[in-house]
Amino acid sequence: MELRLYNTLTKEKEVFQPLDPARVRMYVCGPTVYDFAHIGNARPVIVFDVLYRLLRHLYGEGKVKYVRNITDVDDKINARAAEEYPKLPLNEAIRLVTEKTENQFHDDVDALGCLRPDVEPRATEHIGEMRDLIERLVKAGFAYIEQEHVLFEVGKMADYGKLARRSLDEMEAGARVEVAPYKRNPMDFVLWKPSKPNEPGWPSPSGIKTPGRPGWHIECSAMSWKHLGETFDIHGGGIDLVFPHHENEIAQSRCAFHTPVMAKTWMHNGFLQVEGEKMSKSLGNFITIREVLRTRPGNLVRLSMLKTHYRQPIDWTVQSLNESQWAWADWASALKTPASKPSEEFIGALLDDLNTPRAVAELHSLSKKGDLPALKACIDLLGLTEASERGGVFITNISVDQVKVEELMTLRHVARERKDWKESDRIRDELKAMGVVIKDNKDGTTTWEIAR
Ligand SMILES: [Zn+2]
Repeated sequence: MELRLYNTLTKEKEVFQPLDPARVRMYVCGPTVYDFAHIGNARPVIVFDVLYRLLRHLYGEGKVKYVRNITDVDDKINARAAEEYPKLPLNEAIRLVTEKTENQFHDDVDALGCLRPDVEPRATEHIGEMRDLIERLVKAGFAYIEQEHVLFEVGKMADYGKLARRSLDEMEAGARVEVAPYKRNPMDFVLWKPSKPNEPGWPSPSGIKTPGRPGWHIECSAMSWKHLGETFDIHGGGIDLVFPHHENEIAQSRCAFHTPVMAKTWMHNGFLQVEGEKMSKSLGNFITIREVLRTRPGNLVRLSMLKTHYRQPIDWTVQSLNESQWAWADWASALKTPASKPSEEFIGALLDDLNTPRAVAELHSLSKKGDLPALKACIDLLGLTEASERGGVFITNISVDQVKVEELMTLRHVARERKDWKESDRIRDELKAMGVVIKDNKDGTTTWEIAR
């Protein structure tokens, strides 16, 4: 059986053949560490973890190298550091913010059952490689220096826009507003920029005197080069990264190394929305991974994510989490069973461009057939076993004295009967202080639940 993967670069599902089967190489864009990751960020981490597990299953555990970077130099990080630790020198504050956020991210994705990548390079530890790449691009005539910035000149690359399938004319038409004075063309992008004395800075490339810092795109070209080579097998990330981030990574790497491709296969997961709406801070439906993990264990979060094919948009709903919980309850007895082999139908589903909804349907069918050893093997391969073992760490267990709650509920009922609203409200507040929320239903009954 062959693994077939959809390639954004060719818009086709292709048979996957690694450049070197003894060393399958995958790069995935990782987090910018300044705040808790949101549930949309969990999607690529889970999707590419399943791919990593499948590749290890197919080629052997030691034969796959998975690299996911950590972006620890970014203007959003600088802003957060200054805001959170105004009294500290900026560089020290930045270190505190990035270390704390990196740990939070690891704790979150561990709880989702994700394996750690083989290498997690940090941008700030690869400034030398970035400088090297930039100097190659300047020398080869693909980049120019203007007002202490280094810019990539997109017009110099014949097939710029190939990944996103956009022509330079189309892109320029959309980018007419406020073109920076140091750009020759509105689509030219920053490889390096000067830093002010209070900003993080490193010695600049190409004879620029003022210290500076890299643009975002160059870091992934530098880190994938360092850890995977000039050309590698798979590059992944969210669909929102296709343009400009991945387009620009391709431009930098291919023009620096004079190669026809950067990665052979480009894979992108679809968007995530919440209860049918776009997730945004202004709509108040912005959910962090940690918030979800406070009420649901990691295996249910992971399973909910995998019920939708990775290229489809996903609607994140409480209903779906509940359904995952019911499914999990059906499979629970398999967890204690020694695993045999994953079924052919299950592996076939994953080989078909990571068709996880079909793989999950197979879990149901194995459960119905009572083939628990095969079911356990499939659950293992999807990473659900690890997620169930580690996924409960953030669950907040509020234990309440049920007898006391029922007693107060009765007292409140009596108070309401005699229309003593003041006493009724006082009891409601007392319950609230215990972490209990009460609800007066239309049919006259009153129910209670633990506040989350
Ligand atoms: Zn990247």
